[in-house]
Amino acid sequence: MENDVELGHLRRCVELAREAVEAGDEPFGSVLASADGVALAEDRNRVAGGDATRHPEFELARWAAENMPPEERARATVFTSGEHCPMCSAAHGWVGLGRIVYVSAAAQTAQWLAELGVPPAPVRPIPVQDIAPDVEVEGPIPELEEAIHALHRQCHAGA
Ligand code: ZN
Repeated sequence: MENDVELGHLRRCVELAREAVEAGDEPFGSVLASADGVALAEDRNRVAGGDATRHPEFELARWAAENMPPEERARATVFTSGEHCPMCSAAHGWVGLGRIVYVSAAAQTAQWLAELGVPPAPVRPIPVQDIAPDVEVEGPIPELEEAIHALHRQCHAGA
């Protein structure tokens, strides 16, 4: 399970999600780390400009494909504030990335958004392993979930 280094990457994901909300985007952030735990790349949600595919996990999959040989991708870990959507799970699987650690599950996020009165997403919140069955997945991380829930409330309810 997560050690202090990995918890640090997850906390950075929460920070990136906060930066996204403050910029008018949605509260999602992700960090790509090498097999030895070094953060290689990070990104946050950038959908406010009108392109709903600008998810950080998708950007990191493309970054990995451009910058990492296949064997390094397979040993890397993507930390993320919210479990990958099917688009990002597919991208993760196609480029051969390794493990995923998420703070909150896609189904949990969907429930939070429904409670906030947000219309259902146009894409179903299918678990990563239903899309990319060979990817090792860990989560949720209960100690960080409330921070993410609060960011969704801030994003969608002005709370
Ligand atoms: Zn996505």
